[in-house]
Order: sequence, then C-alpha cells, then structure tokens
Amino acid sequence: MTPPRSRPATGKVILVGAGPGDPELMTIRAMRALLSADVILYDDLVNPQILDWAPPTARRIPVGKRGGCRSTPQAFILKLAAAEARRGNTVVRLKGGDPMLFGRGGEEWQALSDQGIRVEVVNGISAGLAAATAIGVPLTHRDHASGVILVTGHGKDGNEPRWSALAATGLTLVVYMGMARVAHIRDRLLEAGMRPAMPVAVVRNATLCNVAAVRTTLARLPDAIAEAGLSSPAIIVIGDVVDLATALSSVAPATEVATSAGARDA
Ligand code: SAH
Repeated sequence: MTPPRSRPATGKVILVGAGPGDPELMTIRAMRALLSADVILYDDLVNPQILDWAPPTARRIPVGKRGGCRSTPQAFILKLAAAEARRGNTVVRLKGGDPMLFGRGGEEWQALSDQGIRVEVVNGISAGLAAATAIGVPLTHRDHASGVILVTGHGKDGNEPRWSALAATGLTLVVYMGMARVAHIRDRLLEAGMRPAMPVAVVRNATLCNVAAVRTTLARLPDAIAEAGLSSPAIIVIGDVVDLATALSSVAPATEVATSAGARDA
C-alpha cells in the first residue's frame, strides 16, 4: 500500500527579525511580513509595541524562552508553525534582532524546510550592532579594529567559544548572552594575554527608553556590572574601539548610566 501523500503546504513561515527593541528599527520588509500575518509566534525579547502594528485578526502567540526561565519547547513551536502553515496560513515567527544570529532561527529554518514548509527569512538589526551604536562605538573603526566577532557567552551543551583564539585576533568582540558568565569570560581573556586595561562596555536594553550602559576595563568587568546593577539582556563590547564611545552619557538618564570608577586606571 502506498503511504498517503502529505498535502502540499500552501501557507508559509516567515522568520522575521524584529530588531533590537525600538519598533522604528524594523525593516520595511519586516513590517510588510507582519501586516500579512495570520499567526504571529513571538519571542519575549520582541518589543510588544511591534505587535500593535499587526492586523487585529492575526493570532498572537507568545513562545518566549528566556535563559533560566520557563520556556516553550522548541518542538512545540515548530509543530505549531508547521501546522498553521499547512492550514494555508502565513505564520510570522518574530524574533529579536536578526533571526539568524543566536536565535535558533537556523534550526527552525532547517526543520521547517525539511518538512516541505515554505520558509522565508527577513533580516533584522542585531542587538550587538545597535548596542554599539547606542553608545557611540564604531565597531570596526579602521584605526582600531579590522573586524568584529559576534560571539555567544553561552555555547550550547558546553560548546565554549575558544576565548584564547578570539583574544589573539585583536578584533572587536561583541558578546551576546554573556552576563551570567562575565567573570569566566574575563578570566579566559586575561589568561590568553588580553591586557587588563582593555576597554569594555556593557549595554542593556539598547534602543529602548530604559537603556543603560557602563564603560569599564576587562579587569573590572564583573565588578563594574555589579556596581551599575546591570543585568540581561545586555551586550558586552570588548576592544579598543570602546574608547571612542561618544554617547555613553546620552543613552540614558544619568541615574541609569554608570561610568565605572577607575575604569581608565585599571
Ligand atoms: N537574534 C538576536 C540575539 C538573540 S540572543 C539578535 O540578533 O540581536 C539574546 C541576546 O541578545 C541577549 O542575551 C542579549 O545579549 C542580546 N540582546 C537582545 N536584545 C538586546 C537589547 N535590546 N540590548 C542589549 N542586548 C540585547
């Protein structure tokens, strides 16, 4: 007996980058995708204001998963997205920043495509880029860095970034999801020979009204974060370009911006 043929998918899933927070940083294509949505599956780093732009008829389903908190299992998200697309719906899978950077977008793209679901991807402005700009740091100013590395501070299943290799490049490091392991990251980079006075900035809630930032040195990184009371979601920028920061004091009310004492003499 021949197995029943699965019905060809008529709907699709669009993996959409919602950008770092400020709704104005969505692309026109992202906005178009949102306007076409029948179903929206959104992560919790997506600014809820963005959902206000979606058609009132679109079903909005939160599927967030913050590190350490209760999360929607990935298998469930995929099943839901696939089922809705098979029903002929346009499913917008809305993710913070860019969907292909650290957001499991690649896994979703692969898994849905494997099931014969049509998948489109709309890039977004990634938090690391927005965070640097928010404090006036040009990540690859050519007098200081010939490149930039986007890296997670929190590799899957202990898949630790090779900090010593990264330190040796001399490139600007932009660390996502690094806040829970700052002491570890600092220690590995120091061990690898990065100088203790290397300038570092931490930016929380980049592009949102409650943005907060601190500038410090590699040696003082964990202390400076604790003193400033910064927590996730935050980006850590490590490199000489941080010394070019021009906007650190204008990104947030003075009470929320701490410039770490002794930052320059560590
Ligand atoms: N795909 C996303 C990253 C998802 S990983 C992107 O391209 O931006 C989640 C991490 O992104 C957080 O732990 C934090 O490091 C960073 N992040 C996301 N939004 C942020 C924001 N508004 N400000 C600072 N960091 C942010």
